Amino acid sequence: MTGKTHILGGIAAGLAYAHFEHVPDSDAIILVGASVVGALLPDICHGGSIIGRKFHILSKIINTLFGHRTFTHSLLFLVLMAMIMNTYVSNEAITSGILIGMASHYLLDMSTKNGIKLFFPLDITVRLPITTKTGSQVEHVVAIVLTVLSVYLGFETIRDLL
Ligand SMILES: [Zn+2]
Repeated sequence: MTGKTHILGGIAAGLAYAHFEHVPDSDAIILVGASVVGALLPDICHGGSIIGRKFHILSKIINTLFGHRTFTHSLLFLVLMAMIMNTYVSNEAITSGILIGMASHYLLDMSTKNGIKLFFPLDITVRLPITTKTGSQVEHVVAIVLTVLSVYLGFETIRDLL
């Protein structure tokens, strides 16, 4: 999936969580922002990605060590990030947002043909029963659905605040 789709996935996932968990307004904004960051984070393993271009050297190191869509797309990385965030970040909205965004990234990449190594270091490729190709027409449809979902959830969240 492209960076744009992951950003939309992060926004939709963050808004959904904020809406259903009734996160208070100021926290909801922080949570959705963190969720977008979390949604981009796993692709640090890929030098051409949005985050890979920002942190080029770190991206190169991770790519050399693990390759693409392995460690940074695994439950192991998610648990490690949760432990790091719980230790060093005292803001619960940031921690939840990052982890929710990462989970949305995993789910979107699982819907591509290449899938992800969710159980890294085990060499098992996990993908959904129905998959698409990155940059395909289906991905555009997914992006549109995520946008509509985000607008709806954003509207619902604002309505909850009024
Ligand atoms: Zn990815």
